[in-house]
Amino acid sequence: MCVAAQTCDAAYCLVCCALCVQESITLTLLNSSTNGKSSVNRLLATLPKNEYKRLLPKLTTVSLVLGEELYEPGDVIKYVYFPNDSIISLISELSETSWLEVGMVGNEGMAGLAVFMGVASSSTSALVQGSGTAMRMSSASVRTEANRLGNFHRLLHRYSHSLLTQISQSAVCNRFHLVDARLARWLLMTNDRLGLEEFPLTQEFLSSMLGVRREGVSKAAGALQSGKLIRYTRGVITILNRRGLEAKSCHCYAIVKAETDAYLN
Ligand SMILES: [Zn+2]
Repeated sequence: MCVAAQTCDAAYCLVCCALCVQESITLTLLNSSTNGKSSVNRLLATLPKNEYKRLLPKLTTVSLVLGEELYEPGDVIKYVYFPNDSIISLISELSETSWLEVGMVGNEGMAGLAVFMGVASSSTSALVQGSGTAMRMSSASVRTEANRLGNFHRLLHRYSHSLLTQISQSAVCNRFHLVDARLARWLLMTNDRLGLEEFPLTQEFLSSMLGVRREGVSKAAGALQSGKLIRYTRGVITILNRRGLEAKSCHCYAIVKAETDAYLN
C-alpha cells in the first residue's frame, strides 16, 4: 500500500509524493538483491524519481563473488559499481605479497569514483570482500549523467567527500589505534554494508585488510571472542553483541558513519 495513503489526507502533497518516490525506488532495487538480504544501494535510492528513471536503462544488476578483482592498479575503468548487498574493498598494493585496504565501498556508494573525477584508470585494486549484487553502469554513462549537473552529480560530489573522510580516517586508525579496536571498527563497517551478522572471513584475508600479521589478528579476534562480542570458528565470524562491538571500536567508526549518514540524508 502507498505510504501516503496511511499518513496524509491531502489529495496531493509534495511530502507524500517524495515518500512514494522513495518507496517505489526501494522496491525496484530490492528485487535486485539476493539471499533475502534487504539492502539497496542508498546513493541510487536517494535520487529523485525522474533522475532514477532516466538512469535505470543504463544500470545492470550483476552478482559479485567474494575474491573477484574488478580493477587492478592502472586498469582502465570500463564500469562503475553501486553495491546493493555486496562490499568492494579498495586495496593499495605495497608488494606482490603485501597489501592494505584503504577504503570500503558498500551500499552507501560507488566503486570507480575516479571516472567521476575525470580519471580513466584506477589507482587501487577493487576486490570483492562480500558477495552479493551490485548495479553496474558504464563509465561513459557516468560521465554523460554527471555532466547534466543534476542530483546524480551532486550526490557523487558528496560521496567523494564521504569516501575521502573514510580513507583519511583509516590512515589515522591504521597508525594510532590498537588492533582489537580496528578489528571492531572493520567488523561494524562490514556488518552495516552486508546486512548480515555472520559472514565468511579468513585470518589471512583479515590480516591483509588491517595490515597486521596473522598473529595480531588472531590475538585481537581472541580478545573480542573472550568478551562474547563475536564468535570466530572455521573461517566464519558471527557478531554476537553489536553494541559491545561499538563500545570496543575506536571512534573512527562513529566519525565515518556520521559523515555517510549525513550525505545520504
Ligand atoms: Zn580507529
